[in-house]
Amino acid sequence: MNVPSDHRKSREIVERPPFQVSFEFFPPKTDVMEERFWESVHKLAPLHPRFVSVTYGAGGSTRERTMRMVSQVKAETGVDAAAHLTCVGATKAEVDQVVHAYKTAGIKRIVALRGDPPGGVGQPWVQHPGGYTNATELVAGIGRIGDFDISVAAYPDKHPQSPNWDVEIDNLKRKLDAGASRAITQMFFDNAAYYRLLDRAAAAGITAPIVPGIQPIHSFKQISGFAAKCGANMPAWVAARFEGLEEDPETHALVASAVAAEQVLELVDAGITEFHFLTLNRSNLVLALARLLGVRPD
Ligand code: FAD
Repeated sequence: MNVPSDHRKSREIVERPPFQVSFEFFPPKTDVMEERFWESVHKLAPLHPRFVSVTYGAGGSTRERTMRMVSQVKAETGVDAAAHLTCVGATKAEVDQVVHAYKTAGIKRIVALRGDPPGGVGQPWVQHPGGYTNATELVAGIGRIGDFDISVAAYPDKHPQSPNWDVEIDNLKRKLDAGASRAITQMFFDNAAYYRLLDRAAAAGITAPIVPGIQPIHSFKQISGFAAKCGANMPAWVAARFEGLEEDPETHALVASAVAAEQVLELVDAGITEFHFLTLNRSNLVLALARLLGVRPD
């Protein structure tokens, strides 16, 4: 991996350094969850993230909620908001309608995804009749509607439906060439896999940033379940660190922050300057990680 020779070592971070952060949230389902969502948004917005993104539920199930939260985040905090959007369960015209609504609402950023198969992860992908086939088509479709800043997904552990790395990297390149300006990665826990992805992308002529998606392990049980579902590798050495802590939330929380801090600072030492934090609508651990990067509220 090519590391710039003048990059900052993690221990030399003393004041606001040139790091960029973005935060991912999911649209809350209940009033109580919505309260936590806003509490976290209001704690993280003063860190001046590049953007805050809101996910799109499986099967397009959160279309209205995602639209509402994205618009409100922008209106209430002034932070740029990005809407995730998938091809699942909708015709092209229906997806385009959502994109037009964002254009009208002044939302300029979209994270464009194919989405998981409507039959569930692990099932073959079946395109909706009249729908977009994949993320590449969606990126092109969004570009026809307006001048959006588009992000796409990348996979340090390879997407489970890609038969090999050549197909994976070709697909990533197609999505970026179709009009996306960056890729954001799936969660990963072994930085070596991310470095290999960067090397493979560079060898294929990809020059767009591939921003690491950092998932703090708030709950090992929950996050290892998510990882298994989306094909992200949970290394045995990470699992071992949490082993036996199911009934010990205090030690679990301390290990979670140590593991996340180690991952992020190692990336800093490798020259990475941009981070996308998956917050799960919680702010504490992400606030602490941002602080390690010298990113603090005003
Ligand atoms: P694509 O890039 O279209 O690729 C999907 C698969 O098809 C890949 O294996 C690819 O190699 C293969 N493929 C595509 N085109 C071709 C072709 N022409 N020939 C051969 N093979 C091809 N899901 C949600 O439901 N909501 C979200 O909000 C959401 N947010 C996400 C955010 C990030 C940062 C990431 C990394 C993932 C997110 N996902 C989300 C999950 C994502 O929808 C799934 O991983 C999905 O299975 C793949 O989406 P994609 O955009 O990567 O698909």
